[in-house]
Amino acid sequence: MRTAAERLAAIRDEIASAPHGADATLVVVTKFHPASLVEELAAAGQRDMGESRHPEARDKAAGLEALDLTWHYVGQLQRKKARQVARYAHVLHSIDSVDLVDALGSGETPLEIPVRDAFVQVNLTDDPARGGVAPDALEALAEHVEASPALRLLGVMAIAPLDEEPASAFARLAGHAERVRAIAPEARWMSAGMSQDWRVALEHGATHLRIGTAITGERPSSP
Ligand SMILES: *Cc1c(COP(=O)(O)O)cnc(C)c1O
Repeated sequence: MRTAAERLAAIRDEIASAPHGADATLVVVTKFHPASLVEELAAAGQRDMGESRHPEARDKAAGLEALDLTWHYVGQLQRKKARQVARYAHVLHSIDSVDLVDALGSGETPLEIPVRDAFVQVNLTDDPARGGVAPDALEALAEHVEASPALRLLGVMAIAPLDEEPASAFARLAGHAERVRAIAPEARWMSAGMSQDWRVALEHGATHLRIGTAITGERPSSP
């Protein structure tokens, strides 16, 4: 049976040899897994870790502070929890509303947290309950992030819908990425691709791959 470190090495090699893969950032999503797995991955050289649940993420980041890892928050962000999350998460992948941006820091309130890197999450489904901003509100949100003293806009993020070919979903996301770059030319990153669809995401311009189970193995418990 292969270990997480071996699966990590295999996926790293595959990413590195794929077209555009050399520049991609691999974020290993470790939600539901114990801190010991994060330590194992760190020992194998992995620096970027993804989490989606506060306070589980907070506790892992605090317990493993000495490892000096980069923590990516990829789950839905609640307005009320946003500042708490931004204390330990270096990169926020799920900014999806103007309210959320304001909760992280608007002009009046002094910042008690470092400026964080942020992706604007786009909803590629027709279901508003899914995370992400509706495509027609994307530009306004991106401008709001640009204007926030709390955030540095990296680009767009999305999760491929379950009922659509990932290729068409990620092609649409690439179009949204271009709309954001028209406003913010430096926001050239794209967070897309999970265990099942990262190869397709990379073909469509993903720069940040969020891979969980293909590296960590099955999660110990599910939501
Ligand atoms: C859990 C999760 C992932 C990783 O999913 P896998 O299918 O385990 O690779 C990626 N992105 C987000 C937003 C997630 O919640």
